[in-house]
Amino acid sequence: MAEADIALIGLAVMGQNLIMNMNDHGFVVCAYNRTVSKVHDFLKNEAKGSKVVGAESLEDMVSKLKKPRRIILLVKAGQAVDDFIDKLVPLLEAGDIIIDGGNSEYRDTTRRCQSLKAKGLLFVGSGVSGGEEGARYGPSLMPGGHIEAWPHIKDIFQSIAAKVGTGEPCCDWVGDEGAGHFVKMVHNGIEYGDMQLICEAYHLMKDVLGMDHDEMAQAFDKWNKTELDSFLIEITANIFKYRDSDGTHLLPKIRDSAGQKGTGKWTAISALEYGTPVTLIGEAVFARCLSSLKDERVEASRSLSGPQGVKFSGDKEAFLEDIRKALYASKIISYAQGFMLLRQAAKEFGWSLNYGAIALMWRGGCIIRSVFLGKIKEAFDRDAELQNLLLDTFFSNAVQDCQESWRRAVSTGVQHGIPMPCFTTALSFYDGYRHEKLPANLLQAQRDYFGAHTYELLSNPGHFIHTNWTGHG
Ligand code: NAP
Repeated sequence: MAEADIALIGLAVMGQNLIMNMNDHGFVVCAYNRTVSKVHDFLKNEAKGSKVVGAESLEDMVSKLKKPRRIILLVKAGQAVDDFIDKLVPLLEAGDIIIDGGNSEYRDTTRRCQSLKAKGLLFVGSGVSGGEEGARYGPSLMPGGHIEAWPHIKDIFQSIAAKVGTGEPCCDWVGDEGAGHFVKMVHNGIEYGDMQLICEAYHLMKDVLGMDHDEMAQAFDKWNKTELDSFLIEITANIFKYRDSDGTHLLPKIRDSAGQKGTGKWTAISALEYGTPVTLIGEAVFARCLSSLKDERVEASRSLSGPQGVKFSGDKEAFLEDIRKALYASKIISYAQGFMLLRQAAKEFGWSLNYGAIALMWRGGCIIRSVFLGKIKEAFDRDAELQNLLLDTFFSNAVQDCQESWRRAVSTGVQHGIPMPCFTTALSFYDGYRHEKLPANLLQAQRDYFGAHTYELLSNPGHFIHTNWTGHG
């Protein structure tokens, strides 16, 4: 009997939690998994007493669905998604909807959209953020693909998504093709940036100011009551406080070698591909790469020296505030760059992206959730066509207010030999973006000198000329 509102394939951590979330919101979900024994286990345990129904096969699952059928895939990204799509296609009919909620690459989503459209089926690639906890109690959802599917899934998606303010859901239609997964990818890149910025603030606090864990916890707790109010600042304070079973702090015992799953790297690759200077996310990815060279760094630390005998002699409280402001200003740059990449991708692919809605989608439910995203939403509400966040009055004033502190934090850190790839790249970007003239005139002359690549004169833009630099007259 067709009883289920929606099916979900993939009973790992994300799938199980999302099913229970949909169940809580009154939807009947049909659960299926490649290894069918996991369906039985799920029904006997986590889903016991719920309205969730199980399926023994894909045919069984399809037969239990109301029409148009709605099927979410939450399986390992890559081949597993294509394999399930191939198996589902012969079982479905025109107008049925397949939704991929995994961390798929946006180009795969675009390809799947195109191939399923030819078969009369609707496809949605949705970013799902917030991890296990988000999936269970309210994720940030970023759906894109065939817009005809949206009216059929909107109610379910917006019901289960995180809510902010007066109950606005952190979920809206993002755009065509792979737009949802592209936005999720940029979200993950921004997450890399936010995390690295916090690590750089930690490094300055620890090695310039000599703060201990309790002092750093206190500072982060305080910062969480300022413009920096966010999930990542909150959990960082808790991490500083955490003590191991022997009563000592756990953090300094953790090996300083960061892992990564690849979505930050994808964002940096896209930035290079579309010629957008998303320098902060790129540096955040490279910072993880450098950290992972632990053995090499240990070796290098024995022979390479930094500044000798530099000791901080200023006002500690004042410098702590400088660090906070450097973090805030750098964060503004990172988001400005992230939105620049979204804008460029929209242009590249002909997507019509609603930037304010995207900021709202990230405002709750996900790792980068913060009060700050509300300010970004407001900036795009003021001007939907805003060229760059830095050109919005709120953000230009905020950067202006932080500027002196930001420069002091960076220059002091440099004098102390502290690596701050994201603080420094953010400041360089800001200085580059605000300069009417950059030294690229020399670059153009060099290119023309050795390669006859031609250049334009300021007085005659659009007209390219070549000079014989070694000739006379
Ligand atoms: P996962 O470990 O990425 O994937 C496990 C699921 O995929 C299982 O249901 C497994 O079925 C199925 N699967 C794996 N290989 C398969 C194949 N070749 N053919 C068919 N099915 C296959 O699970 P997850 O951590 O819950 O994540 C699900 C998706 O959400 C992923 O794309 C992930 O990147 C994304 N995501 C995860 C998080 C997170 O915090 N974990 C957050 C956001 C997004 P069997 O049980 O039969 O092996």
